[in-house]
Amino acid sequence: MRLALFDLDGTLVDRRAAFADAIAELVHDHAYGPEIEGWLRAELADTADRGDFERLRDTFQVGESAEHLWRVYVDRMASAVHCRPVVLDSLARLKDAGWSVGVATNGASDIQRAKVRATGLADLIDGIAASGDIDVRKPDARLFELAAARCGTQLTPGDWMTGDNPESDIAGGAAAGLRTIWVRGRDWPEGLAVPHHTADDVVDAVDYLLANSTL
Ligand SMILES: [Mg+2]
Repeated sequence: MRLALFDLDGTLVDRRAAFADAIAELVHDHAYGPEIEGWLRAELADTADRGDFERLRDTFQVGESAEHLWRVYVDRMASAVHCRPVVLDSLARLKDAGWSVGVATNGASDIQRAKVRATGLADLIDGIAASGDIDVRKPDARLFELAAARCGTQLTPGDWMTGDNPESDIAGGAAAGLRTIWVRGRDWPEGLAVPHHTADDVVDAVDYLLANSTL
């Protein structure tokens, strides 16, 4: 069975838009000032975990526990994040065509799974590996291997990785023996080996997989 792995944030879902909403709500809920809001927007910009809220407490002496703040943040992110219906449809078509579909994501285990459930992606994927599960991050090949294992299979030459990050998704996927599709959205870094295919959107990436299933 063919395996297609996908990155989550910035590929299947728009984390950036959800993040802006979630931080605004968390700050509003706790009547925090602009200084805390600015700190959160900067420090959690790429990825967030419980430890970030311990650092927040160390920095600003807020009254709430790190545990509470993390839970609120996870809830707010889960309700703010969306997966476009066309993306859900395209993954459903990929599954109908006989592909295994997995997610390999850098992020904390609980929040990445909360997002996958809240967006409806959980019904369409066979397995997910989050870096927080094993404390190993993309581009490390072990995270791709875990994603394959969670899909009930193992990485095979000819399997695919699709993502928006040139280093972690594309260079990492290639180093793990995968063929790669880069979902464009930034400049391609000089000196990095080019992806097998480039798409403007993850829906186009899935169309490419479906059209090239016999490769
Ligand atoms: Mg990404």
